[in-house]
Amino acid sequence: MSYAQIDLRDKPALEQLFASTKFNAVIHFAGLKAVGESVEKPFMYYNNNIIGTITLLEVMAAHGCKRLVFSSSATVYGWPNEVPCTEEFPLSAANPYGRTKLFIEEICRDIYRSDSEWKIILLRYFNPVGAHPSGYIGEDPRGIPNNLMPFVQQVAVGRRPSLNVFGTDYSTKDGTGVRNYIHVVDLADGHIAALNKLSNPSIGCEVYNLGTGKGTSVLEMVAALEKASGKKIPLVMAGRRPGDSEIVYASTEKAERELNWRASYGIEEMCRDQWNWASKNPYGYGSPDSTA
Ligand code: UDP
Repeated sequence: MSYAQIDLRDKPALEQLFASTKFNAVIHFAGLKAVGESVEKPFMYYNNNIIGTITLLEVMAAHGCKRLVFSSSATVYGWPNEVPCTEEFPLSAANPYGRTKLFIEEICRDIYRSDSEWKIILLRYFNPVGAHPSGYIGEDPRGIPNNLMPFVQQVAVGRRPSLNVFGTDYSTKDGTGVRNYIHVVDLADGHIAALNKLSNPSIGCEVYNLGTGKGTSVLEMVAALEKASGKKIPLVMAGRRPGDSEIVYASTEKAERELNWRASYGIEEMCRDQWNWASKNPYGYGSPDSTA
């Protein structure tokens, strides 16, 4: 096993890597993922996410490696009209980040149509949270976190005074947005299941949701983290965040049936492991001076 740090847009470097090593399959996680930033810097998102992916696919094809697992996102369901989201739902995108995921999915479908030797699995992640149970590996976003749980975590360790709850008037159980949180370890296992599925001769280009199938509100998530950490999370009830959906959660039937995979951790374990990581590493991989 070896490690090479390469920008996917650097085709010669990628060529060299594929020439020196024979890969059976690629799991492609590399991409920018901040919604707000993508609205401000669409060139950066299209360039990095789409050109990077096309370059990777071209080099894979040239070296006869035609098995891919790609990190897509539930964002491709746009603002779903109903829940749970099944893989057959119509697709749309609400911002450049989401469009990069949608376009890459379409590119993969086109590539498979042009050459049936490809085997591609597109995994639509719902809301990954938590950390590795060891407490050594976790999420450490740069700057102000966009996502709920990294923000809540920073409030819990005292780095931020309070959490803004974006929207309290949704038609959900407590008025706050509902999402389908999934433990990162379950998500990782979903990739192993997808890799195994790629050796199935009948697979072409397939898409699977990775979620638990359960919807949890912002207030429920905060309460669970408060319980796991023993810390109080001060809340500021704020307006809706522009572009947010009200309620999004996955249908997990297809993944259970065809990948033989299902999420095993609930909210409690997600918050336990999130807090374990946070309390051991309150400044993530950095130090108090190196963070905003
Ligand atoms: N959210 C919030 N405060 C924050 C960040 C997020 O209330 O500081 C809410 C957000 O409105 C949504 C939920 O938490 O209802 C999950 O947001 P996140 O950005 O993590 O995921 P996404 O909206 O992309 O599914």
